[in-house]
Parts: sequence; structure tokens; C-alpha cells
Amino acid sequence: MANVESFDLDHTKVKAPYVRLAGVKKTPKGDSISKYDLRLLQPNTAAIEPAAIHTLEHLLAGYLRDHLPDVVDVSPMGCRTGMYMAVIGAPDEAGVLKAFEAALHDTANHDRPIPGVSELECGNYRDHDLAAARQYAKNALAGGLKVQPTVLIQR
Ligand SMILES: [Zn+2]
Repeated sequence: MANVESFDLDHTKVKAPYVRLAGVKKTPKGDSISKYDLRLLQPNTAAIEPAAIHTLEHLLAGYLRDHLPDVVDVSPMGCRTGMYMAVIGAPDEAGVLKAFEAALHDTANHDRPIPGVSELECGNYRDHDLAAARQYAKNALAGGLKVQPTVLIQR
């Protein structure tokens, strides 16, 4: 089976909330695609409920694109402690940190309908929790986001 970057990260050594450059891929034509680990909760201590992380996905998908150019994708982690984000190019982590903070600020203050919430636009449109999503965004901001270096598991 192919090697997966996140399985080499020592999840006991990181301190959430944080932004971490998870990896950079070069396309055959020489472009870079960078993947970031946007962690909201400390791994293995808690998890964001499915409805709340679903709403965070809908809100951060738009708000991160408002603050950072060339976002390819923002997706929730299966462990429900954060999001992955893929970006064209290699923006520095400090810039991504600023954009994530701004997007979380927008999310914490979001008081309009959740974007993309209809049977036409979403695969589980009843499963959302805006109040909880706003609270997780607020908590992450209060927790003091920082840049987290990758700590590899010593095998
Ligand atoms: Zn959805």
C-alpha cells in the first residue's frame, strides 16, 4: 500500500489548534500543490460532532477561499479533529495561519443561512449545526493558533 504522510505524523507531539504544512507535491509540469493540516482539536482528546464539522466544511470552504488564493479543496478529517486544505503553489505557513484565523473569525460570526444547504446542493442537508460550528471556530481562535512543525514518528 502507498505511503500516507499523515500516518507518519506523531499525533501525540502536536499542540492544537494549529496550521501545519503536511506536504508539497510537484505536478509533471512542475507546479506545486501544497496540503495543509488545519487542526482545531487536540488529537485523541475529543472530536467534533458530525453535524458541526459538516457545517464547518461548508463555511470554511467559502471563507478560506475569501482569504487565500488558489484553494483547491477543504475537507474534514475522518477523525473529526480538523480539516485538510489543498492549495496551488506553496504559500508560507504564516500566511496560511493568517487566512485560517480570518476564516475562523468569519465562521464564528456567521449569522446567515449556511451556504449550500439544500437537497440539491448537499449530500446530507439535514445534518448541520451552525451554533456548534461557530463555537468550535471561537474556541480555536481562543486557543491561540500557531504554526506546528511536523514531528515524525520514530520507528
Ligand atoms: Zn454538505
